[in-house]
Amino acid sequence: MNNIVTKLNTIYPNLKFTSSNSYYWSPETKEIFYKKGLYDDIHQWSVLHEAGHALLNHTNYDLDFQLLAIEIEAWEKAKEIANNIGLSISNDHIQDCLDTYRDWLHRRSICPKCSNKSFQQRNRNYYRCFNCHTRWRVSSSRFCRTYRMADKTILSNQLLI
Ligand SMILES: [Zn+2]
Ligand SMILES: [Zn+2]
Repeated sequence: MNNIVTKLNTIYPNLKFTSSNSYYWSPETKEIFYKKGLYDDIHQWSVLHEAGHALLNHTNYDLDFQLLAIEIEAWEKAKEIANNIGLSISNDHIQDCLDTYRDWLHRRSICPKCSNKSFQQRNRNYYRCFNCHTRWRVSSSRFCRTYRMADKTILSNQLLI
């Protein structure tokens, strides 16, 4: 009854939901992946967030900082959907999620040699330091990493310096 996926499916019959071990939107297959069997607030907010990406038809971004903008947009949309079905999303939760992204982006951009903050190259898998000219590789960014503390470990493990 209280199932957010069922509810969203009724309102937006075109959205495709698939159960998985994390929450994310796949622009390639146009599917929203979600964890099955959970009914808490964070579960609901995560599904709403991914539905936000889906309804905005988020497809591409070139550079890391664009990913952050897309994340902000998805949360704005999620708030709108939540409003329509009488739910609300905690702003603290949204800020925590965005901070996770900000931290991740920041870590990628710090030069491993001299700690200077650097810029992503046109080839988005590389950053280059303007101070010491070190160039380093980072993993491709991707939509919607999950948000809980444990996942921060995953985020940092994905740095390929
Ligand atoms: Zn450097
Ligand atoms: Zn997202």
